[in-house]
Amino acid sequence: MKNKSQIPRLRRGYDGQANPLPSPKRNSGSEQAGKSQPEFTVLRKDDITGARAGNLTTRHGVIETPVFMPVGTQGTVKTMSPEELKEIGFGIILGNTYHLAMRPGVEIIRRAGGLHRFMNWDRAILTDSGGYQVFSLASLREIKEDGVTFQSHIDGSLHFLSPESAIRIQEGLGSDIMMVLDECTPYPCEHDYACNSLERSLQWAIQCKNTRSSFDAALFGIVQGGTYADLRRKSVEELKKIGFDGYAIGGLSVGEPRGVMLENVELCTSLLPEDRPRYLMGCGTPVEILEAVARGVDMFDCVMPTRNGRNGTAFTRAGKLPIKNGAYKEDLAPLEKGCGCVACRGYTRAYLRHLFNANEILGLRLVTYHNLFFYHWLMAEIRRAILEGTFPRFKEEFIAGYRSQDSSKQ
Ligand SMILES: [Zn+2]
Repeated sequence: MKNKSQIPRLRRGYDGQANPLPSPKRNSGSEQAGKSQPEFTVLRKDDITGARAGNLTTRHGVIETPVFMPVGTQGTVKTMSPEELKEIGFGIILGNTYHLAMRPGVEIIRRAGGLHRFMNWDRAILTDSGGYQVFSLASLREIKEDGVTFQSHIDGSLHFLSPESAIRIQEGLGSDIMMVLDECTPYPCEHDYACNSLERSLQWAIQCKNTRSSFDAALFGIVQGGTYADLRRKSVEELKKIGFDGYAIGGLSVGEPRGVMLENVELCTSLLPEDRPRYLMGCGTPVEILEAVARGVDMFDCVMPTRNGRNGTAFTRAGKLPIKNGAYKEDLAPLEKGCGCVACRGYTRAYLRHLFNANEILGLRLVTYHNLFFYHWLMAEIRRAILEGTFPRFKEEFIAGYRSQDSSKQ
C-alpha cells in the first residue's frame, strides 16, 4: 500500500476463478459411498469428564489425539526445522492458507508438489481457509454473499476469496485436513451481527463441501455463533445436516473470559457427533487445553509455545518462566529439571538468558524447542491418563502444580 491513490489490480492466482488450479481427479466411488479417507476412532472416553483419546487417520499418518498442532504460518514453524519437529514427535502441523497464498503464491507450491514437498514435511498438514486472516489482517473491501474482496497486507494488491477458491487453494496446497471458509466473529459481537454472519458462514460451508473435488483430504466444518447459545446450537445442528469429517469450534479464544469460552466449548461438544474429531481453533494455554480436553475437544493449535519461546518465556510444569529475568543470571540449572529436551539436556538458564541478552538466534531456537517439547509432552501425558482412566487426577495435579508458580496467566 505504498500509493493509496493507485487502484490495486486483482491479482491472478489467489482467486481460483481468475487462475483456476487444476483439480485433483474426482473419486466418484468414494463420493457415492459417502466415505472419505480420513477416519477417526475414539479409543477411550473418560468415565467422569468428557475427555477422549482417539486416532485420526490421514494420508500422511495416524494422529494420536488429543493433539497439539504447532503453527507453521509461512510454511515453517518459526525457528524450527521439520527434522526438529519430527524429533520432538509432532505428526501434524498447521499451515496458513492466506499467508501462503499471498506469498509465495499457491501456484509455485503446487508445482513444487504441494506444501509437504515445498517445506520438506512428510507428516500431516491442516490448513485453515484463509478467512481468519482476511477478516483480521487484510484490509477488507467488501463482504458479499459469494465471497470477500480484500487487499493484501503485504503489497495492497486486491484479491477475492470465495468458498470455492478457499477449497481449491487448500487442495492446491495438498492439505490433509481442510477448513471451510467462515467468518470468525469478534468478541464482543452483537447478536444480530453474529446471526447474519452465521447464516453466511453456513451457506459458505455448503458451497465448500460442494466444491471439494477429492476425498483424500478431510474437510472440517466450523461452528460459529459468537457467545450466543442459540446461535451455537443452530450452527452445530446445521453443520451436522451438511455433514463433515470433523468439526472445528471457531470464534473463541478471541478475547472473551475463559469461563465464557469453556461454557461455549461445552455446549458445542455436547451437541457434536461423538464419532468425529473436534478441533478448538487458536487455543491455548496448558490449563485451557486441559479444560477443553475435559469437555471433549481432540485437537488444538496455538502460536503460544512458539511466540512465547521467541520472547524468552518458557512453559514448565511449574508455570511460565521468563528467562530474560535477572534472577536467572547465575542460575546453572536447566530450564526445567527432568525435561528431556535438547535445551534442558545441554544448556543452563544462565546461558539461555545470556543468549537472549546478546540477541543470539540460538536462544530463540532453544526456548522454542523446549516449549514445543513441553506441549507435546503435555498432550502425550493427557492421552496416557485418558487411556489409563486417570485423567481427572492428572488434570487436577497438573493445574495445582502449574498454578503454584504462576497464578496470573496460565
Ligand atoms: Zn526442556
